[in-house]
This record gives sequence, structure tokens and C-alpha cells, in this order.
Amino acid sequence: MNFEYLIKTHNLKVTAQRVSILENMNNYGHINIDELFLEVKKNFNNISLATLYKNINLMIKNSLIKEVKIASYKSKYEIKKDTHAHILCTVCNEFEDLDFNCSLAVDNVEKTTAYKIDNSEFIFSGICQKCQ
Ligand SMILES: [Zn+2]
Ligand SMILES: [Zn+2]
Repeated sequence: MNFEYLIKTHNLKVTAQRVSILENMNNYGHINIDELFLEVKKNFNNISLATLYKNINLMIKNSLIKEVKIASYKSKYEIKKDTHAHILCTVCNEFEDLDFNCSLAVDNVEKTTAYKIDNSEFIFSGICQKCQ
């Protein structure tokens, strides 16, 4: 993945910190602010949490990354891609993308409610096989 290009095409200035944020997000898949802060600090030990948040919020605003809000957990951040569902293990906190047909679910809701849906989140949670 060419992070510099990704940043540019989302109308942001390329900085080493932003590249590092994306690299870590890409490695983890989904990363929370504490994990990200620790990782980014390895290369930029002067970075403050406020600066990190400022970058994160700007990248969210420009649709480069996405915040996944999870009830009673810290938000996870990921590089934005097509709408997809997530699954969370409430024991080991494993958090993954899920093969689930989101657009079919949205179609069904539109059909049954006559709403025009413009936002949907699918987060399933439970206990993974290892933890059962
Ligand atoms: Zn588990
Ligand atoms: Zn995801």
C-alpha cells in the first residue's frame, strides 16, 4: 500500500507522522488510540496525544480512515474501505472484519421500512472458538 499516495489523494499534506499512523493501522488492521500512541511514539518520541488526535480527526474528516465505535470499548481506527461488518470476542477482545453481506441487510431494511438508509454499522460480539 502506498501511504504517501493515499494521503495525497485525500487532500492532505504528506507528513512522516501521518505515514506512520497509516502503517500501524495497516499492520494491526484495527487499532485503538493507546496502541497507536505507543507505536507512533517509537519513531516520534516527542509526539503528544493531542497531536495524534488532531491527525486522526483530520484523516477521518477527509475519509482516509474510519473510526469504529464499539459500546464499552475504546474506538478502533482502520484505513477506510468498503462498508463491512465486524466481530468482537468479549473475552480475548479479538476484533476482526467479518464476511457478511452488509448491502443485502441494508436493502432488506429499506424494503421493510421504506427508509433511505445512509448509515449502518454491523458489529457482532460473542465468544470466539478459542475462548469457549
Ligand atoms: Zn476470544
Ligand atoms: Zn474493519
